Amino acid sequence: MAEDMLTATGAPVSQEIIEQHKLVVMYKQLPNVLIFTFVATSALALYFYDHLQNSSIFLWGWWGAMQLVSGLRLANLVWWRKYAVQPVQNPQLHIWLFGLGSLAAGVLWACFSIHYFYSATISQRLVISLVMSTIAAGSVNVLALIPQISRILLVLLIGPLVVMFSLLGGIDDLVVAGLGIILFIGLTGFSRVSNDSFLGSLMALQDSNRKIAGVFAQRDELIQVKSDLEARVSRKVNALQNETALKERYALELDKIANSDSLTGLLNRTSFDSRLRELLNDARTRQKVVGMMAIEVLNFDVIELQGALVSDQVLLAIADRLRAFMPSHALIACWGGAEFFVATGHSDTEAGTDQFWSNHAALVHNVLQKPIATDGGAICADALIGVTRYPDLAINSELMFYQSAAAKHGLRKLGVGGVKVFNPVLDSSLKERHRLGQALHHAIEASLLNLVFQPLVPASTSLPYKMEALLRWQDAEFGQVSPVTFIPIAEERGLIVPLGRWVLLSACRAATTWQGNCVVCVNVSIHQILAGDLLRDIELALQHSGLAANRLEIEITESMFAQDMNYICSVLESVRALGVSIAIDDFGTGYSSLAYLRRLPVHTIKIDRSFITEVDDDARKLLFSIVTMARGLGFQIVAEGVETIQQEDLLLALGVDYLQGFLLSKPLPLANAQTWLRTLPSRYKE
Ligand code: C2E
Ligand code: MG
Ligand code: MG
Repeated sequence: MAEDMLTATGAPVSQEIIEQHKLVVMYKQLPNVLIFTFVATSALALYFYDHLQNSSIFLWGWWGAMQLVSGLRLANLVWWRKYAVQPVQNPQLHIWLFGLGSLAAGVLWACFSIHYFYSATISQRLVISLVMSTIAAGSVNVLALIPQISRILLVLLIGPLVVMFSLLGGIDDLVVAGLGIILFIGLTGFSRVSNDSFLGSLMALQDSNRKIAGVFAQRDELIQVKSDLEARVSRKVNALQNETALKERYALELDKIANSDSLTGLLNRTSFDSRLRELLNDARTRQKVVGMMAIEVLNFDVIELQGALVSDQVLLAIADRLRAFMPSHALIACWGGAEFFVATGHSDTEAGTDQFWSNHAALVHNVLQKPIATDGGAICADALIGVTRYPDLAINSELMFYQSAAAKHGLRKLGVGGVKVFNPVLDSSLKERHRLGQALHHAIEASLLNLVFQPLVPASTSLPYKMEALLRWQDAEFGQVSPVTFIPIAEERGLIVPLGRWVLLSACRAATTWQGNCVVCVNVSIHQILAGDLLRDIELALQHSGLAANRLEIEITESMFAQDMNYICSVLESVRALGVSIAIDDFGTGYSSLAYLRRLPVHTIKIDRSFITEVDDDARKLLFSIVTMARGLGFQIVAEGVETIQQEDLLLALGVDYLQGFLLSKPLPLANAQTWLRTLPSRYKE
């Protein structure tokens, strides 16, 4: 097996590859060779046919043989081109076929020159020599890659002529023979050089092919690396984008959580506060008016009794209604349970009037009043809306909060829903009230309050006397403060429960100092039932004072009818069960329900002073009906505020059981009350 050749870079190139390249070079030249052969043979045949009239059979036979060989070589070329698969399988065979074709042609050329040499003229010999030399030169060019065949062909083409010219023996002939030998040597050398340079070029080509292949391989590798890098970069970029998007989402979520109310999604206190400041700044520069509403769901604590789900549904519905009703730029907030705040800027000129905001709030109030569907059924939630505006009423956000809350507070005292615009008069009374509240706090702590007692005189000797305990507060700054003023403040500030407990104990203790079986009447606030433990307070007062339960009567007002009656009934029944009697105070001023009156363990009804003061016909008729009704229901009847003899006569004629009023006695300090009881007015003594 032939050894591989080495390129300049030391890379091996196999013989098979060399042969394949040789075939490509040779077969490329074959068409030219065949054309030249046809032209040369035909020209020679015609030339010799004209000049040599003899041997035409040989001539045309030779010509035919030559064309046959050319035809076979052409067939070989077609076969090689068409059917040989690149790289050519078995290249050696094709090289030998090519060489065989060349040798066959060479043999025929030799036959021609041998056959005609001796019969030819000198010039014909020269023509033959010229043609053979040309063919030899051409064949060397084509066959240089097959050195053995090339040399044989040179021998066939030049050898016979050299021998024949030498045998002629003339000087000229010997020169030609010599030239033939030189030509042979030259062409042989040329053939070798050609072959070597072909091999050199091929090796260089292989090297450069390898380099190019290497470069291409590197390029492919680089392209692969580049696309890998691009894919990684794009994956990284995607991951980063996702991470950034996620972070942005989290940041938004966090921002939302930090700035919004968790239930309704509205602004929370912090964000509303800062947004309100921005709104006010903007309003300042653009000469706008900002209106703010503080909205509170009325009696939300009652709604809450239906469970967290229902109360949440109510709050969500309110939030939705506010969102839908208010313009999109309005600030809407919720915090602290059932409190909502709405602020919005307005550039209309009428926005600077109370009327504008009052109308606006009334519309909101209407929207909120509509029934709300909840899992606990439809709920009609009323709302208190306190309104203020910037810059006429409030000059900053703190004042807006204060004033809207103050306006709302005014409404809450009335106990009904509605709209109220803040006004400065309201504000000063509120501030006064605040100061009073603080003073009351101090007075209770310093035991500066005391009790006075006002007698209730019975119309019949069979009934015991009663004394109503009334609170008194003499303040250093405010002077004598009426309980009508300070009791509601005590209720608002949560002071009424301990204060009421003290009144109960003090009144019971006072009663133990009275002679006879005089009953002590103690006013009780509804807060003492709802927020305190009235039953326990009464039990302790009786226990600590040693007063018999039947000598205690508690007075409650009709305001309790607006509360949770089932609970109140159960407390009052327990109180009644102790033996303590119960009176309805200021009867006729509230909204008593006869049904409730019958249900409650009430013993006495105290007809409000307003029915006694007016003694015209209508008032008298009303008084008469109240007395008739109360008597019909079996209640004991007390007439409050009796100031004149006429009133007294009338009430006695109507048949009331007790009379209370300045005519009979003003409220008395304890010591005076004791004296009064010892010296009872003679007309009621018997
Ligand atoms: P009340 O329970 O209806 O008490 C009667 C009020 O009418 C008393 O006012 C009494 O001084 C006044 N009065 C009595 N007779 C006459 C009269 O002939 N003419 C006029 N003009 N007034 C008369 P007072 O003491 O100012 O008490 C006002 C209200 O304050 C009481 O009304 C009661 O609702 C409440 N109150 C007083 N003390 C207490 C208390 O210890 N606890 C609670 N919860 N409320 C109290
Ligand atoms: Mg009373
Ligand atoms: Mg009264």
